[in-house]
Amino acid sequence: MTKNKLLSKSKYLNGLQCPKYLWVKFNEPDRVPRFDASMLYRFNQGHLVGEFAKKLFPDGIDIPADDFTINLKQTEELLKERKPLFEAGIMVDNTFSRIDILKPVGDDEWNIIEVKSSTKIRNINFHDVSFQKYCCEKYGLKIRNCFLMTVNNEYVRQSDIDPTSLLTTSKIRIQGDRATSEIQLRVDSMFSTIDSEKCPAVTIGKQCNSPYECPLKEECWSFLPDNNILDMYGSKSSAFKLFGKGIYSFKDIPDDFQLSGKQEIQKGCDISEKPHIEKKPIMEFLNNLEYPLHYLDFETFSGAIPLFDGTKPYQQIPFQFSLHVVDEENTTPRHYSFLADAEGDPRAEFIVSLKRVMGNSGSIVVYNQSFEKGVLKALAEMFPEYRDWVENLDDRIIDLLAPFRSFHYYDARQKGSASIKNVLPVLTGTSYDHLEISDGMNASLAFLGVISNSASAEEIIKIRNDLEKYCALDTEGMIWIIDKLKKLTVADSDDED
Ligand code: SF4
Repeated sequence: MTKNKLLSKSKYLNGLQCPKYLWVKFNEPDRVPRFDASMLYRFNQGHLVGEFAKKLFPDGIDIPADDFTINLKQTEELLKERKPLFEAGIMVDNTFSRIDILKPVGDDEWNIIEVKSSTKIRNINFHDVSFQKYCCEKYGLKIRNCFLMTVNNEYVRQSDIDPTSLLTTSKIRIQGDRATSEIQLRVDSMFSTIDSEKCPAVTIGKQCNSPYECPLKEECWSFLPDNNILDMYGSKSSAFKLFGKGIYSFKDIPDDFQLSGKQEIQKGCDISEKPHIEKKPIMEFLNNLEYPLHYLDFETFSGAIPLFDGTKPYQQIPFQFSLHVVDEENTTPRHYSFLADAEGDPRAEFIVSLKRVMGNSGSIVVYNQSFEKGVLKALAEMFPEYRDWVENLDDRIIDLLAPFRSFHYYDARQKGSASIKNVLPVLTGTSYDHLEISDGMNASLAFLGVISNSASAEEIIKIRNDLEKYCALDTEGMIWIIDKLKKLTVADSDDED
């Protein structure tokens, strides 16, 4: 067994996902891309939740985790004090775990408490805690129980955060000896993998996306042709079954292989190299639109710790909208926008600004209505004086996602996706690639950067400008998509099914 390599809890979890990923992490770490901004944001959320969890143990001792050696040494000394320990580092036989909270119970036992910023317990969390228990027991600690502390998404902030209500603690059952011997076998096998001179040959599979999207996916999946069967709509089981038989392209799928209706459309488009267009339902969709057309899009941010009174963990807080209004066919759209300033809760100003520019009649076109409807519903709950007005808006909303999600229009270049980010370039030739901010997650993170005062005045001006451009493209893009659908349905075409 390797004596100079340390299998930490995170690497053990990497190894559970895939031996190739584990080997690369140890032997060629430069191949692993750096964490992106959304991943760093998630880590930061975890850290914030962890700080609130500590408040539940006022006599707890925080062991600095920055210096590995000091952390281990202090843990060893502080274990004798029989007080709750935060970030205790346990190293034994080249395995290492850092325990969020190690709480003394009885005369000589301990409870392990793992804190998560998520609201649900996942299977991977059991592996996570089992490994901690394994390290602690090998080290010589008696573990009585293990707990997972997660975020309670029903908690509503009122004034200061109340950690007792914010966090939910669940006892989890980890089988004793069996779990330990299984972990030991896995640990031994992982050390063999790590020591191997050659990177293990692992075929891509469902593990590449589960429990997390593997950072090596771009590298491992790069051999696949453009528009391959792993872009198949719906469950990936069929796709991987075909992949296992060496079939990578839709056109190679045998005729007797059972596909869903939408998957058949994908295959047909790949073979014909033409889009699939069902004129009748598209025309029915277009006939439901009533002028003046209001093309509307919201941007929001959310986080584990609610920032404002009356909000819950992970509630979407709207900070920006773009609205294009087309009064009649072939008229120039009017554009309105709102982007909150960096101070305080943006919701009141958001709803006032929206009401000011939304007309009282005509369809409201959005892309993926559950999002905008959900934000409006939460606003109506917060500001009951707007309830009737919001109900009126809700009745007028039409979802432009519908014709694409139902595959009434499909082009192979959409790669099985009905997202506006895939549909817009295919239908209009305009993509989001030229924008500094090109998706909703980046928009939220950019705005959060502004409100956290981590950006300079110059950067703030640029970010606000980029946010305006991004959100405006979402609504202007919908105008172009509708125009294109109109042209498609009136044009004489032999594409119709
Ligand atoms: S992308 Fe898939 S095959 Fe490649 S290392 Fe990750 S999990 Fe393993």
